[in-house]
Amino acid sequence: MATFKCDSCGATKEGRCKPKKCPECGEQNTMKKEEACGCSCSCKS
Ligand SMILES: [Zn+2]
Repeated sequence: MATFKCDSCGATKEGRCKPKKCPECGEQNTMKKEEACGCSCSCKS
């Protein structure tokens, strides 16, 4: 399971596949995969 986050509004959604559009704001291609680093910080690489 991966988490995807909207670049536009910051909404997050869990799923196996990348959402084509944001469930919150409806923007397309704004959902980016968030890599889990194992800690609770917001670090991303
Ligand atoms: Zn959004």
